[in-house]
Amino acid sequence: MNNFLGTMALLMLTLGTGCTSPATADAAAELILMNAHVFTVDDTRPWAEAVAIRDGRIIAVGNDDEILEFTGDSTIVIDLEGKMVLPGFQDAHIHPLEGASGEEFFTCQLDTLRGTDAETWIEYIAECADHDTPIDWVMGGGHYISALLDLERNPKEVLDDAIPDIPVALMEFTSHSMWLNSAALEAAGIDDETSDPVGGKILRDPETGEATGILMDSAGDELLHLALQATPALQEARYRSLMWSQEMLSRNGITSITNGRVYWDRGNLEPWLRAEQEDTLTARTVLALWAYPHMSDDEQLDTLKSMYRDGTDSLLRLTQVKFYSDGVVSNNSGALLEPYARLVHPDVNPMGQNYFTEDRLQRYITELERVGFDMHIHALGDRAVRESLNAIEYARGENPSLAGKRRHQLTHIALVHPSDLQRFKHLDVMANIQFNFDFDDDDGGWWQSLLGERNVVYTPVLELDKLGNDVVLSSDWDVATASPLKTIGNVAVFFDGERPTKKLIGLAIRGYTLNAAIAMHHEDMTGSISVGKYADIVVINQDLFEIEPQEIEHADVSLTLLEGEAVFDPNGLLE
Ligand SMILES: [Zn+2]
Repeated sequence: MNNFLGTMALLMLTLGTGCTSPATADAAAELILMNAHVFTVDDTRPWAEAVAIRDGRIIAVGNDDEILEFTGDSTIVIDLEGKMVLPGFQDAHIHPLEGASGEEFFTCQLDTLRGTDAETWIEYIAECADHDTPIDWVMGGGHYISALLDLERNPKEVLDDAIPDIPVALMEFTSHSMWLNSAALEAAGIDDETSDPVGGKILRDPETGEATGILMDSAGDELLHLALQATPALQEARYRSLMWSQEMLSRNGITSITNGRVYWDRGNLEPWLRAEQEDTLTARTVLALWAYPHMSDDEQLDTLKSMYRDGTDSLLRLTQVKFYSDGVVSNNSGALLEPYARLVHPDVNPMGQNYFTEDRLQRYITELERVGFDMHIHALGDRAVRESLNAIEYARGENPSLAGKRRHQLTHIALVHPSDLQRFKHLDVMANIQFNFDFDDDDGGWWQSLLGERNVVYTPVLELDKLGNDVVLSSDWDVATASPLKTIGNVAVFFDGERPTKKLIGLAIRGYTLNAAIAMHHEDMTGSISVGKYADIVVINQDLFEIEPQEIEHADVSLTLLEGEAVFDPNGLLE
């Protein structure tokens, strides 16, 4: 994957002849990275050549000569030969547990079948039942819902042909719908009369009223609760998934994350607490605790309040609550100000679907921000964005003393009405946007056909930046790749011509480092290469500013440091 070993010289410098101005032992660095293109994301000194590290912190940033002054008896000095050094990437919205579940118990992977007729998947799906997993159901997914809506019969019948006797539940790639066979519908107690849950739809055959096997939005979410009961075997598998995810994050140069939705009522919190206890966390982690749409508000608010936990010395902080205001465009569940141009099914609401209404959001935000929580709200459609901003504005009125103290954020923000753009800055709300899609993705046409023409700004990265907002970029993995380099390259390619390329690259790096750190409320400790901050650092084999934007996603991560310790070091530089 990279030629790091061949090109990097590791020098163990010792005091003595030839080494001028030796540092005193108590001022010496443990590690020096030198001869590098250091992009600090610190406006007081944007570029440097070298960084000195001691006790997990950055003790000096400067040119090579300045920093070599910090060389002591046992300092490890790494000559990076022109490679790039950046603050460790911070993914402010990612799903490490769910994303890695494919490794352990989501055995039926449909992503590679996208674009083909779902009737032709039967043979492949039949084999999914052969795997040994810690759950009684056959699970997986990765398909587009459009493939199921194109079928000429009820989607559950296709699954029944593949696996008639075991419950099967396959999750659409966005996670906003589930595809079930008849055995799964029966196990879930869903029949043709079952009413829709809060924030969800059980799709029915328009002629017969029969459940089709598609559960939209929170209807599918609640099903997961049943299929993924927290047995000891499943909890072990989840912990292994987390370890797998963390390795993947380190390989991608990611040193801080926000887990964008922790199902605390389903056993997804325990693997994190175990990792903390066993000292196996390899990234600073903020957990966004899921607000369940179906739970009673009094009970849920009490429980969430009791779970708040901050502490800047801890790698694990429970400081965010995650809400879904709405769903996604591909299901017509993204909430819109004007009706959809096309409906995917007669049962859907033409204006989209709320998981949490504005009224409920008002109460939750008002009460939870008093405890310390920052809100992380999935708001994808223009109506969801407006309602979420309204709810935050309401809470601001109720809690005026908290102005400037909370970092609420809206995530996704696929469509915004132009008149709502200025409200982000006005209300001090951060925008957390994903930009890691594949340009050749064939689902884009479907998406646009559902929306039709409308007066909105799509994915307003540049617009919000221009209005003075600290725009955050993140992956939403495993919806799309976790590679920050993919996003940085995409921003430079997609907005080509709107700003100079180097400005775009700088903006994208900032969105994945300092701005993400601000969203996680820990920018005083990390997010830039500045003296006093933790040495959370990534080394890239090429200077991203000097290569073609199309090549950025193909650059290699050569080294990832968390507090000065290597968490990804494929060539054993720090061993
Ligand atoms: Zn997400």
